Amino acid sequence: MLRGLGAEVVEVRKPEQLDGLDGLVIPGGESTAFMRLMRLYGLDEALRGFERPIFGTCAGMIVLDRDHLGLGDFRVRRNAFGRQVASFETDLDLGHGDEPLRAVFIRAPWLEEVGPEVEVLAEVDGRPVLARQGRILVAAFHPELTDDTRVHEIFLNAVREESSVRA
Ligand code: GLN
Repeated sequence: MLRGLGAEVVEVRKPEQLDGLDGLVIPGGESTAFMRLMRLYGLDEALRGFERPIFGTCAGMIVLDRDHLGLGDFRVRRNAFGRQVASFETDLDLGHGDEPLRAVFIRAPWLEEVGPEVEVLAEVDGRPVLARQGRILVAAFHPELTDDTRVHEIFLNAVREESSVRA
């Protein structure tokens, strides 16, 4: 998705691979495994010192919350919509008269509590599922599983703005 939008993409597994990156995506998966591996490799500490835009989806959103890496001022409820069988798709209202955004939820979390600096961009049944706090963007769903590039574009725009400020 990001390559299609013109970004140069590399995979990060070790702390030193963060050097020189303009932004970071923490993808979906399994947040418990992510936390364990990040501790093992020292990526948790390295991420706390990473100052560029970060985009967390699903498990990636979970690890950014107050109870995990603590980079975002929000608290996440894991598997909030139910277990694997409760995975679903729905259309999100982004406001501003924008086209609805088709979103795929897989054992998805929601944002249970958000701090004052968190801007909620979309909800499902009153539960925030897309939000931004300064350089941090989080989605409870998997925007890489549809053809709609708008969420990735929000992230890339933040990356481009930050890197032009630094240049
Ligand atoms: N349920 C998973 C977790 O708690 C997240 C699922 C996902 O990333 N699609 O980490």
